[in-house]
Amino acid sequence: MYTTNKDRMTEKIEYFSKFGALEGGGITRLSLSAPALEARAEFAHRATALGMTVESDDVGNTYATLPGSEPGLKRIVMGSHVDSVRNGGNYDGIYGVLSSLEAVETIVTEKIPHRHPLTVMFWTNEEGARFEPSMMGSGIVLGKFEKEKMLDVVEVGGKETFGSALEKSGWIGDVKNRLSKENYCAYFEPHIEQGPVLEEEGLEIGVVEGVVGMVNYDIILEGVSSHAGTTPQSYRKDALRAAAKTILDLWEKLGQLPSDLVFTTGEIFCKPNIHTVVPNYVKFKLDARHKDMAVLAQVVDVIKNLPKDVYGCKLSYEEHWGRTSIAFDERQIGFIEGAAKELGYTYKRMYSGAGHDAQYVSEMLPAVMIFIPSKDGLSHTVVEHSTADQVWRGANVLLNAVLAADRAL
Ligand SMILES: [Zn+2]
Repeated sequence: MYTTNKDRMTEKIEYFSKFGALEGGGITRLSLSAPALEARAEFAHRATALGMTVESDDVGNTYATLPGSEPGLKRIVMGSHVDSVRNGGNYDGIYGVLSSLEAVETIVTEKIPHRHPLTVMFWTNEEGARFEPSMMGSGIVLGKFEKEKMLDVVEVGGKETFGSALEKSGWIGDVKNRLSKENYCAYFEPHIEQGPVLEEEGLEIGVVEGVVGMVNYDIILEGVSSHAGTTPQSYRKDALRAAAKTILDLWEKLGQLPSDLVFTTGEIFCKPNIHTVVPNYVKFKLDARHKDMAVLAQVVDVIKNLPKDVYGCKLSYEEHWGRTSIAFDERQIGFIEGAAKELGYTYKRMYSGAGHDAQYVSEMLPAVMIFIPSKDGLSHTVVEHSTADQVWRGANVLLNAVLAADRAL
């Protein structure tokens, strides 16, 4: 078994944490912003120094490739993203890129033989914090979003379009460089877990089997507005009271479905939202996630069977959006699990509750993800943290999994 260099891995995380650094910790490194371009340049500089060729595609997704001993073989690719949310941490996304770079640096410095060309990549605009939607770069390549429409997307809270930011960035390359079935044979994405499971269970590695499916519904209660003082309680059709009852009903009914179903109401609109007026309209969201689409179908049944009249208010619902569950490639999962086992790390097979570029890629290439623990399960915040050992172990699993793929594919 090979291991990467822990000091070098730590240096990478610390160095890249400067790009977009905030006072007191964390970063704001929005896609194609000045700090994101600095991070891109530093990546290209380091990759070139390792003997890799750096290429971008037409939307700035960037691929650095080290030749293998059998040039006819397809490339094995690993990576993630360099952009962050506003007030984000030093690990989400960038960890996947830097652990991949460290794996390749180990292969180069220790002259580890490999047959396939090895590519380290990052996707443009994974977070969608500046240009919506998220997973834009991979979504364009995988045909989820129309490129022309995406180029016209205007930044949140500003005037710049994605197309113009891309143009100014200098990172537009050839459409031929896009990730493709023709040129690539396997995809690995290391990432922080962004949840509490590994830490809670005292485990070192998450072998990610897929990404959970999701349903998201709007549930609407319509009552009658009236004066908060003059209308006797018995005459009221209070939409917020009806919504509160409905939310508790949903908790009760969804609580009877498999215990690994997760759901929440994270958004609620109340009209007129005036403290002297009985609310006449409440719309709230129900977000539910599970790996088994049959369980999500049961969630939808629960929603459809809610009473249509709650305390005199009319209940209706509407699907807001959803996504199907993705299962990663079993052979790819096996490379990760095998590496974790041989390195003697504690691990579990698990699903990701968050979306990642790997879920789109899995429709094109055999793909898989590696998770490392997140302190207190926190992510998308400045206190996001994983220890130097956790970071290093993930890079070691990646290195050995990629070498196993190199031998087998
Ligand atoms: Zn991420």
